[in-house]
Amino acid sequence: MRRRMKKKAIYTLVAIIALIIIITLSIIMIIKYNQKIHSTSYKLEKLGYTKEEVTELMTTTDTKNEKILSIEEILNHEYHKDLPYFLKEKYFIKDNLERYLKYKEEHSDKSYTEIVSLINTNRDSDYYENVQKTDTNKENQMLVNKYYALPKEFVFDDLVDVSIQHCYGKQKMRKEVYEQFKKMFNDAKKEDLTIIINSSYRDYDYQESLWNRYASAHDEAWADSYAARAGHSEHQTGLTMDVTTYGVKEQEDFEKTKEFTWMQENAHKYGFILRYPKAHEDITGYSYEPWHYRYVGVDIATQIKEEGITFDEYYAYYLA
Ligand SMILES: [Zn+2]
Repeated sequence: MRRRMKKKAIYTLVAIIALIIIITLSIIMIIKYNQKIHSTSYKLEKLGYTKEEVTELMTTTDTKNEKILSIEEILNHEYHKDLPYFLKEKYFIKDNLERYLKYKEEHSDKSYTEIVSLINTNRDSDYYENVQKTDTNKENQMLVNKYYALPKEFVFDDLVDVSIQHCYGKQKMRKEVYEQFKKMFNDAKKEDLTIIINSSYRDYDYQESLWNRYASAHDEAWADSYAARAGHSEHQTGLTMDVTTYGVKEQEDFEKTKEFTWMQENAHKYGFILRYPKAHEDITGYSYEPWHYRYVGVDIATQIKEEGITFDEYYAYYLA
């Protein structure tokens, strides 16, 4: 009798221990499951991203960079197959995300890098469409192109006359820009090179009559391909100059000169950039112009040269 009772007690004890183990394991499993379904990677996978994409997304999101999407923002966005690729792009701007995705759907042949450049510079609109006012408070860093226009009355109040030894005809430009030009001119002279300003500041009325003349001689499309519309010419800023040197008959022949080669290597040291470079016509809206230089300041000119981007792209990412 006593032995049977003892046996029963042992069974009960074993049963209790087993129960405790089962309950503990269940609790652990529930906690683990809960952790899993609340984890970011699980949620991203649930949205439709593959394990590899999830790893990518987790590493490309950077809370310190406000231009990049946060994990929360990715989770709140519906799954899109192109999103992880766009996020990896250096010049990704989150406010442009929907436009990137739409453009990629319509132009699947274009690379993610190309699309980011195009959208950042508003190339999903036609030229002179959705025109914004140039922020002239940005002074030497202001953007004037086919999407950003200066008002008719805009002119810097510190334009100075360019000395006849530095230019053809009568030219004006912003004082600081001219000072920098003179340094460049003198350094080039030490190597027997002569950089001559052909055209610098041009006012709104000049540009308007030029464009009108072209338009009435041909048509608007023709005029647009040869001249900027009034307010859209960078020459109105007083920060820009077309240059040449002795013996150059056609403007485009400047590219073949030693002066051009020297400027390619040195212009940024004085704050100038080649504004309409080769192979970036789609972004700048202008054919390659080896003669057209724009002053942006030494630091930015250097950065633009290092990064190999146009001023339009630089402005969109760093200055807008
Ligand atoms: Zn020019």
